[in-house]
Amino acid sequence: MARAGASAGEGVRGWRGARVVALAAIALGALTPATAATSAAAATPTAASPAHMVYHGSRDKRVVALTFDDGWGLSQCRHILRTLIAEDAKATFFPNAVYVRNAPHFWRRVAESGFPIGNHTYDHPDLTGLSARAVASQIRRDETAVERVIGRPMIKVLRPPYGAWDATVARVAGSLGYRTMLDWDVPSGDDQGASAAGIRRNALRGGRGSVVLMHCGPSATPGVLADVIAGYRARGFHFVTVPELLAGRRSG
Ligand SMILES: [Zn+2]
Repeated sequence: MARAGASAGEGVRGWRGARVVALAAIALGALTPATAATSAAAATPTAASPAHMVYHGSRDKRVVALTFDDGWGLSQCRHILRTLIAEDAKATFFPNAVYVRNAPHFWRRVAESGFPIGNHTYDHPDLTGLSARAVASQIRRDETAVERVIGRPMIKVLRPPYGAWDATVARVAGSLGYRTMLDWDVPSGDDQGASAAGIRRNALRGGRGSVVLMHCGPSATPGVLADVIAGYRARGFHFVTVPELLAGRRSG
């Protein structure tokens, strides 16, 4: 599976792109206020603010958020869940609806075990290549399908596939009630072919408030998870869910 774009740098490029668009809009507004106002209204069907991209939480507490994306390997997903429960470690999942629909019992158990589930789109396209309508469809279809399976609301946090986003993605997500998009500051590299030792080393590079990116699918990930958990705990860190991390960010 091609996942070359799944790096921390992807989101940074997206952010720059969004900034350029915003600056262009300001420049347009200065020249032709009436036209710019009209097009802005047309492009924004609701008054909602664009979703805000977050890469990590507050840096003042020794907490880390473990996050697990995708879900294409069910046996690896099961192993990860078993380990998290055995270790009593909090984590957050961002599966695609296509995988949730294929393993409803497993994903219901994830939710019932207290692990928040966020939106990673229906079937994992690069959202920056899609129209606003298609972006909205990916977010809505994921929400509908996943909530039908888990029987409870998802968290309103969008993790865009490959970490890739732009102004359109932020605007559409905001219009659908997503105030936050979440990338990461610590990529484990498990989706980039890293060895078990490499994943362990990469995943343990986090600091206060870090968001660690791992996946439910790569064969090496489940086997190093207990070591990753132990490594952070040895440094005095606690694990928090994404909602807990974001709440700390707002208050701090
Ligand atoms: Zn993904």
